[in-house]
Amino acid sequence: MCIFCKIVKGEIPNQTILEDENFLAFNDINPTRKIHVLIIPKEHYDSFDVMPPKVMASMTEFIQKVASKLDVRQSGYRLITNIGDDGGQEVHHLHFHLIGGEPVGRLVR
Ligand code: ADP
Repeated sequence: MCIFCKIVKGEIPNQTILEDENFLAFNDINPTRKIHVLIIPKEHYDSFDVMPPKVMASMTEFIQKVASKLDVRQSGYRLITNIGDDGGQEVHHLHFHLIGGEPVGRLVR
């Protein structure tokens, strides 16, 4: 079972920010910014590339609730999902990184 599925099952502890029936948001264990939260569907999809588009609709709403809870909607934040080897994906359970709490800088130069 993948590490994020173990987190969903409660077999590995996490610092939960927000949870509902279908999604979980928790602090990244190795934060790169003041705020670094991972947002995952509880159901396993290897990456965004194979996620059913209809799941994204409800996930969008959940991510916006996480941003509200973190109080970053006014200041802004960055949302990233890494896909596959070239995308730098290490954990093969779809997740979005929400980073912020400070200016995160340019992504593409
Ligand atoms: P990358 O490490 O290149 O960002 P991913 O996009 O696959 O690759 O991100 C995986 C993320 O999961 C990393 O930011 C890592 O710190 C985080 N992580 C790994 N294990 C845990 C854990 N047990 N709890 C919280 N975050 C974790």
